[in-house]
Amino acid sequence: MALVCVSLAERTARGLVRAARAARERGADLVELRLDHLRQCDAAVLGALRRRISFVPAIATLRPAREGGRYRGGEPARLALLEQAIACGFEYVDLELSIGKRGLSRLAALARRRGVGTVVSHHDLARTPPTAGIVRRLEACARAGDLGKAAFAARSPRDAVRIIEAARRTRRTAPGAVAIGMGPAGAITRTLGPFLGSRLVYAGLDRKSLTARGQPDLAGLQGAWVVAGGIGRVSASTGLYGILGHPLGHSLSPLMHNTAFGRLGMDAAYLPFDVDARALAPTLAALRAAGLRGANVTIPHKSAVIPLLDGIDAHARRIGAVNTIVSRGGKLRGHNTDVAGFVGALGAAGVRLEGARALVVGAGGAARAAVAGLLENGAAVTVVNRGRRRAEELAGRLGGARIAVADICDIGPAAERSEIIVNCTPAGMKGFPRTCPVPPRRIARGAAVMDMVYNPARTRLLAEAEKRGARTVSGMEMFIRQGMEAFRLWTGKPFPEKAVRKALAHSRLSTN
Ligand code: NAP
Repeated sequence: MALVCVSLAERTARGLVRAARAARERGADLVELRLDHLRQCDAAVLGALRRRISFVPAIATLRPAREGGRYRGGEPARLALLEQAIACGFEYVDLELSIGKRGLSRLAALARRRGVGTVVSHHDLARTPPTAGIVRRLEACARAGDLGKAAFAARSPRDAVRIIEAARRTRRTAPGAVAIGMGPAGAITRTLGPFLGSRLVYAGLDRKSLTARGQPDLAGLQGAWVVAGGIGRVSASTGLYGILGHPLGHSLSPLMHNTAFGRLGMDAAYLPFDVDARALAPTLAALRAAGLRGANVTIPHKSAVIPLLDGIDAHARRIGAVNTIVSRGGKLRGHNTDVAGFVGALGAAGVRLEGARALVVGAGGAARAAVAGLLENGAAVTVVNRGRRRAEELAGRLGGARIAVADICDIGPAAERSEIIVNCTPAGMKGFPRTCPVPPRRIARGAAVMDMVYNPARTRLLAEAEKRGARTVSGMEMFIRQGMEAFRLWTGKPFPEKAVRKALAHSRLSTN
């Protein structure tokens, strides 16, 4: 299981003690003391640090400049200080592979005798070698100490993928080893490390005191993991799932699927990957390399993700949007479970689709799923969008003559004629103006009104529709059902619906 190690770099011993206490209080499992940042480091300072930092396990690190550290003294003096750190009895000492075979085995033997663990590390500040080279470094580090750690300057997403591939390949030959891509392009290697079997995840205490490029800060790291139950429950056997989208702050998918995994006692975790259009392909490549089992895709990537997959099902092809990715034997296949979620939500509310006149407001991905579901079940569809051209494109793609397109200024009469009205725009969503996408007075008594917006669960549209005696269906119902279908595709297991509904209701109470 992975542990969170907060790397601390301070100019004074007193500052280091204060920072170590703060790290422990904020949930660090262990701390790395970057002794090379101290203004003064000698045997007396080491002894005092050991005595005063007894409340948290510590790694003593004295990184030389050649490996990206601040220690500028000679190598013999540095090795002597490392010996003293071992003698002081820190829980771990970090020894660089570049110390050389003889020096390393002497220090490692000394550490063993004293009951001090060794992290043997390697830092390539210039580049990331080919996968075989990374594998060799990781294995060499692991052989020389108790835990191997290799960090490489990652200049491109391809570098990150190579590091992830190497980490996966060495799960048995370098157990627990930490493989890191330094720099922004390598940040994903840190997030995925626990799934690759890394025993440690390094973080900075806060944004101001990061000790390496691309390193997360402790609060950010914990925040990303909180809904998955914390980093401590992830190991190389944990199934990797997640959602790709931007922004993701509002998404309840991590809560939904982590609750389901927890309820079924499955060793799996679902993480949010908040990525913009440029980061979509690299992130998916990294997830693929890390053994992704399944993912959801949301705004704005549902169409852009298609060329990155190995195949898509007929539904997704017709709609031109993927919201669920399933991995089988390393191949990623796209599905669209929004249609099943949409039809299921209306069906559960007793809304008959066969022969009904339906109005769909909006022409994006959600509207496409709604229109496909309505047509497949025998409804006649009118689409209205603020931009008419997009509505016409949707009609052309999904049904041609079977779909009418109305102008936005004719939305009132179109609503009056409709037995089913579906809002597929974000109007009314948390963070958007609390507007009503359909003029309320035009909603017919007895009509069924569905709002795809699920946060808040009761939108202004639904409240107005209820006032006029319409039946209402919340987007939350569709959201749960599209998630159930995705979960079934990933796991083949029955979805623990009751527990998930309870968790979602509880979270809404606390966020709305
Ligand atoms: P999208 O592809 O970005 O499309 C958004 C559509 O809404 C476009 O037609 C756009 O019109 C229109 N629009 C955007 N802002 C508007 C505004 N302020 N007023 C009126 N129209 C506006 O998004 P999407 O994927 O279709 O998602 C739409 C909504 O459905 C989101 O709130 C999303 O959270 C929700 N959704 C819910 C579920 C669920 O399970 N309940 C599933 C999927 C989506 P233009 O073409 O003129 O830009």
